[in-house]
Amino acid sequence: MGILEFIQDFGTQEQCVAKLEGLKWKNEPVCSYCGSKKSTKRKNSIRHQCHSCNATFSVLVGTIMESTKLPLPKWFLAMFLILNAKKGISSLQLSRDLGINKNSAWYLQKRLRQAMNEDNQILKGLVEADESYVGGSLTNKHEKLKVDRSYNQSGMEHKIPVLGMIERKGKIIVKVLNKAWGNEIKPILKEIVTKDSELITDGFGGYKDLGKYFANHVVLNHTKKIRKIGVYHTNTIEGFWSMLKRAILGQYHKITLTHLQDYLNEIAFKYNYRNPETAFNTLLFNGLRKDLSFRRKSLCQGGVAPTTTLHPFCRKAGLIGFKGVSALLLLYLLGILVLSEQIHHVYQIN
Ligand SMILES: [Zn+2]
Repeated sequence: MGILEFIQDFGTQEQCVAKLEGLKWKNEPVCSYCGSKKSTKRKNSIRHQCHSCNATFSVLVGTIMESTKLPLPKWFLAMFLILNAKKGISSLQLSRDLGINKNSAWYLQKRLRQAMNEDNQILKGLVEADESYVGGSLTNKHEKLKVDRSYNQSGMEHKIPVLGMIERKGKIIVKVLNKAWGNEIKPILKEIVTKDSELITDGFGGYKDLGKYFANHVVLNHTKKIRKIGVYHTNTIEGFWSMLKRAILGQYHKITLTHLQDYLNEIAFKYNYRNPETAFNTLLFNGLRKDLSFRRKSLCQGGVAPTTTLHPFCRKAGLIGFKGVSALLLLYLLGILVLSEQIHHVYQIN
């Protein structure tokens, strides 16, 4: 879909709401707080009035777009622009394209990248795993991390290690590592890749002994130039690395550790959903799924009341207890009393 068609389809708030309602409710509104399907649409509003719990709700409740001040067409257009920029788009460029300030653009991009995070997925079958290093800036890095990363002698001191796992003909998941070693790599692989899978890696020591855990572990000794044994190779993940490096070189000159996982999520998401329409619908759907309304929901369903947010003073008072507060108040009053007595005394002398 070209940008003109896109704007024709999603240029107004109503069009965007209709699309979201279709995706979330299949056009049959469900109360976000009690799950009731009985509600009436409010006049001149995107909200619905629930007949069961009497709350009003819109399709945006519990989504990344909840309580947004930005019009929905801008959110939609941001998704379109991000998904269509093969090598990524900077938040500055996004702010110019959408006509919004750079802070809003940064926030928008951050939320959308969170919606692109699909690391709850499981990989199975033939799974290629490989570690790589991507360029990173040390400027915003915590002192401790700078020390931690200076471990290797391979000239990678300024690079950040990442682990990639890809299911043959399936999805990729990329994780930032603190250090490329077995203690960190193995738990990630065991969590993401199912036990009955066949794992394919190179001869790196970090993957040692994984054959005991997975159904099969094929080790390709790249130093001995063994790159392929039948269907077992790591070409897919290596292809992804070269794509990732081109993207990083092209767009993100300075990647700080804090945002690297978000960048990787974006690039992996685009790799996983190469059909633009599927990518767009998945991103919208992921954004809708982010459930932020759990507290009201649990209350509405007769659950435990959430802990209320206390004013900082009350929180402190809670910590020192009621007796503590009373004692402090008493001391305070005594102080005033003594002070006024002294002033009175001074005046009397004069
Ligand atoms: Zn309700």
